[in-house]
Amino acid sequence: MKDVVDNSVCKSNSEPDYDVAIIGFGPTGATLANLLTLRGLKVVVFERDKDVFQLPRAVHFDGECMRVFQTAGIAQTLLPNLFVGPGMKFLNARGELMIDWTRPGGIGPQGWCASYKFHQPDLERALRAQLSARGGADVHLRHEVFALDECDDHVRIRFEDTAQGRLAHATARYVVGCDGARSTVRRFIGTELADLKSHERWVVVDVLLEGERADLGDYSIQYCDPARPTTYTRGPHNRRRWEIMVMPGDDERRIGTPEWIWERLARWITPAHAQLERSAIYTFHSVIAQGWRRGRLLIAGDAAHQTPPFMG
Ligand SMILES: Cc1cc2nc3c(=O)[nH]c(=O)nc-3n(C[C@H](O)[C@H](O)[C@H](O)COP(=O)(O)OP(=O)(O)OC[C@H]3O[C@@H](n4cnc5c(N)ncnc54)[C@H](O)[C@@H]3O)c2cc1C
Repeated sequence: MKDVVDNSVCKSNSEPDYDVAIIGFGPTGATLANLLTLRGLKVVVFERDKDVFQLPRAVHFDGECMRVFQTAGIAQTLLPNLFVGPGMKFLNARGELMIDWTRPGGIGPQGWCASYKFHQPDLERALRAQLSARGGADVHLRHEVFALDECDDHVRIRFEDTAQGRLAHATARYVVGCDGARSTVRRFIGTELADLKSHERWVVVDVLLEGERADLGDYSIQYCDPARPTTYTRGPHNRRRWEIMVMPGDDERRIGTPEWIWERLARWITPAHAQLERSAIYTFHSVIAQGWRRGRLLIAGDAAHQTPPFMG
């Protein structure tokens, strides 16, 4: 990596520093880094943050994803902390069953089960540990990419080492923006987002049970109640998840406070049986980028598409 940003952007005769630069070290970037290093490519990863994201996010992946994680070499690491989900039920406002989406419990055509429940930080740590153990990628945490200069045979990536406030650059044949919903790489590609007109605010809560609560069940439940759409899903071990839509008329000053959350959860659970582990208020979007590649720039993951998790 060069310390100083020079102006001869595309004039270098030397080989690019890397085959692929991955911007963003969330699950998409970490998975891609594993797959590319397995193929012997020289990879660099730039990640703005120091640690994996800690707020509640994904809880479910399918057998096809597990097959990818198997290829990456982390299936056995993940297994003790996965729960095989029996499926999902959709209930109407009267509690009547509308859809029973039971999933087969055994091994399916992917060589894995159809539905796994997981804890996203576990997955991200496993991907990072595997990449580090295998080697072949230079990973730069606390490095924020702010500009890309495209040349005929490479891209120059300009970034800030935010731990030191130092500007520098590196070159790669290709850049993949795995940089999430507000992707910088997407902006450099110039692709627009098609807005599928769903912008909803939800409070997402993970609780840790303090004893057995078999009555909550192993199925995910989509409460399709127009008065308050809500999702319940179980995680591995004693972690349980509720996702609660914010409704017109909710008191803005109280939304997402522990009191507000316990009031919403009261029909299922109280502080006598569980502790709040973590919660977040999200505005979910349903958008898809109109083009995921231009020349040597590509996007993947949330940079390319986002969907609200309600109803899976
Ligand atoms: C409540 C909730 C429930 C969900 N449930 C599911 C589910 O059950 N199953 C499922 O598959 N998905 C689910 N999702 C979606 C899933 O969590 C995301 O799709 C996934 O985290 C996206 O991963 P990513 O790597 O593409 O992006 P991110 O995880 O957002 O990672 C992007 C990374 O890029 C870094 N970055 C951004 N810009 C720069 C830059 N300029 N320079 C350097 N680094 C940068 C960020 O710091 C971040 O670490 C859920 C999401 C939420 C919020």
